[in-house]
Amino acid sequence: MTTLIPALLTAIKQELDANAEEIVLLDKTLGDGDHLANLERGLTAVIQQQDELTDLDWSAAFMKMGMTLMSTMGGASGSLFGTFFLGLSKASKNKELNLSNFAACFEQAVESVKQRGKSDLGEKTMLDTLIPAANSLKDSVNNKIELNEALTTLQQAATDGMESTKDMLATKGRASFLGERAIGHIDAGARTTQLIICTVAEQLKA
Ligand code: ADP
Ligand code: MG
Repeated sequence: MTTLIPALLTAIKQELDANAEEIVLLDKTLGDGDHLANLERGLTAVIQQQDELTDLDWSAAFMKMGMTLMSTMGGASGSLFGTFFLGLSKASKNKELNLSNFAACFEQAVESVKQRGKSDLGEKTMLDTLIPAANSLKDSVNNKIELNEALTTLQQAATDGMESTKDMLATKGRASFLGERAIGHIDAGARTTQLIICTVAEQLKA
């Protein structure tokens, strides 16, 4: 199933490119404007390895992606995205990736991002997308929702979470220096994380 990886990466790249102007503006407003460039550097490096990734199982592929993101991305987001994939790798070891297992792995990966960033829900970061996304996956599994509906619910949860950052004060990262001036703007990392989750979900529906 890691044969899906190249198509997923291509779709993510297209989605980020299509929203590039907005993402750059968001990180210019609340940060230093480099978030998209950091992410694209990491994504390009992962795309260069895509053929090797399809030869691996999910856990090994997540590990390789996490290490590559860590070593190429830079920025606060580099270590956090890297940590997310290493967390997914650790949690998915020797597991089949059905919805139920994936929901549990996703939750553990989000947990490692929380620890690494020393942050939680409501601090105007990527975690405001990731935590609602993890909760939505867990709820869908608990309520025995079928895959396509679970993916649509996931997209909605990630989008609502991303939008919730608009009215927040920032307490982590560069945006925390802005105080009240951060209010009224969406966090760039929350937006890119939402775009990636929504794109992957859309691809998995197809
Ligand atoms: P930098 O802030 O070093 O320039 P980027 O611009 O690549 O790095 O990434 C900024 C994004 O990283 C923010 O928009 C935010 O979502 C996320 N971020 C920053 N610090 C934290 C943290 N402590 N916990 C979670 N996410 C964080
Ligand atoms: Mg930045």
